[in-house]
Amino acid sequence: MSGCKLETKTFYQAIDNEVLIGSRCLSCGHISIPQRYICSRCHSTEAERLEFVGTGKLAAFTVIYVPATEMVKAGYDSKNPYMVGIVTLDEGPRISAQILGMDLTDPAKIKIGTPLKMKVIERGPEGQTKKFLAFEPL
Ligand SMILES: [Zn+2]
Repeated sequence: MSGCKLETKTFYQAIDNEVLIGSRCLSCGHISIPQRYICSRCHSTEAERLEFVGTGKLAAFTVIYVPATEMVKAGYDSKNPYMVGIVTLDEGPRISAQILGMDLTDPAKIKIGTPLKMKVIERGPEGQTKKFLAFEPL
């Protein structure tokens, strides 16, 4: 198994426990999400696990009217669209996730910089639900 897969697996296991994790490079202080064993900035292999507070600000977003199959099963369609955003965490790194609790009737009114907090949601067929990272307004 490659290191990359392992890192992603650990990240989603943490989401199952409703914890958002990443890593901080002990050499240069660079913060990564998901965590990395090799720093993308200075290539150091010395890093510590970091738990994010789970708050941040909306940096960019898209409202999706033509959802993928999985999201159609979750009840989304052109009349009930959903929003995916890039969130800048208070600790610095950015992550993409579904954004909940926004008024999507007029996406032009959604403000970049809206404060958000993480919310882990469950989705999927009964008995086989999976947890997903999402954000909602603070
Ligand atoms: Zn580094």
